[in-house]
Amino acid sequence: MGSNLQATEVKSQKVNNERKNPQKEFSSILKEATNILGYSKDVFDFLKEPMRFLEVNIPVQMDNGQTKIFRGYRAQHNDANGPTKGGIRFHPDVTADEVKALAGWMSLKCGITGLPYGGAKGGIVCEPRNMSANELERLSRGYVRAVSQLVGPTKDIPAPDMYTNSQIMAWMLDEYDHIREFDSPGFITGKPLVLGGSEGRETATSKGVLYTLQIVSELKNMPLEGMKVIVQGFGNVGGHLAYYLHELGVKVVGIADALGAIYDTDGLDIPDLLGRRDSFGIVSGLFDNIITNEELLEKECDVLIPAAIGGVIDEGNAHKLNCQIVIEAANGPTTKEAIQLLDDRGILVVPDILANSGGVIVSYFEWCQNNQGYYWTKETVEERLKEKIHASFLNVQHTADQFGINMKTAAYIEGIRKIAEASGLRGWIKL
Ligand code: GLU
Repeated sequence: MGSNLQATEVKSQKVNNERKNPQKEFSSILKEATNILGYSKDVFDFLKEPMRFLEVNIPVQMDNGQTKIFRGYRAQHNDANGPTKGGIRFHPDVTADEVKALAGWMSLKCGITGLPYGGAKGGIVCEPRNMSANELERLSRGYVRAVSQLVGPTKDIPAPDMYTNSQIMAWMLDEYDHIREFDSPGFITGKPLVLGGSEGRETATSKGVLYTLQIVSELKNMPLEGMKVIVQGFGNVGGHLAYYLHELGVKVVGIADALGAIYDTDGLDIPDLLGRRDSFGIVSGLFDNIITNEELLEKECDVLIPAAIGGVIDEGNAHKLNCQIVIEAANGPTTKEAIQLLDDRGILVVPDILANSGGVIVSYFEWCQNNQGYYWTKETVEERLKEKIHASFLNVQHTADQFGINMKTAAYIEGIRKIAEASGLRGWIKL
């Protein structure tokens, strides 16, 4: 499946251990945010777990004729604001807790950006890089059969996530259409263009991060030209982002892939590196002087953008970061404790649920286009994405100033407000 897959895995025991409990992370900041808002304990108790969670076993016939059973999950965090929305990840380390937390984060993203959705997330425990295209197709179809009663264009709309791509969305759509016996492009987003995908969806997350950086550069009076940026991750998000930055005259001084990292204070030749990635998005293997992902995070730069996996910045390395700003392009790359430490050091952290919301924003645009049967130009998509990112950033920043808190907690507040208010108005909880 190679370089089209959505993220670059960072091989590190430390990292793998730490991404195991994002649910704890989610509920801890949720608690803080609901306290600041003065909500009743019911709100926290209701929102800390998804409203619905399905665990399935998917039998898949492998190419060698044997049947293998894969474990899959779908979490629907909250549907007070509309159908639930969120990607499906294929990864060997997927856990129930991770999927639950990611569904909660999706609710927050949709709340912050004002999308008429609640959050969801799916996951299958598998190693896609060791599977053939036929095996991946059977697994994708099997997952849709297993969750089909729970999902649908007005119920829960999946999308790509880590190690899933537009081809996988196409197989899933086809399976769903067969089950329902009608064409329903709005069932899933991140589809290929010919099947009702949207212009600009593939690059939406990286464009959203780019627009975020542009806002920060204006606010902080730090021109993009010559700015030194490190991008950890060289997959769909990190790779596209590094390219756009390079095009704008930003000095991308460091990049990392699954196997290692490259750092050069003079700036890297990003188009050249992108052209030399192998089918799994790996380029570091071509160099002798590579450093580890952990080492890269501590290198000097103006802006550090973790764009790979969760939990890479924690109490152990937050004091060693050598940057002024962190923009979280991955989901949950910085722990709550690390954000506090960075705050104390005057390092701004722009939170994931704001900075990487470009993906779900353009997924929403894709769904609108499917529902209307009328398709937009790439320019329209990107202009509307930029507007949404701008407005959401300013709202979060305003909330941070108003309560004297960091942008992470402010983003939780912005997101929770929408879900809590809608849940309250429906009579589910008392605020
Ligand atoms: N998987 C992406 C995310 O984590 C996109 C979700 C979507 O488009 O629904 O935001």
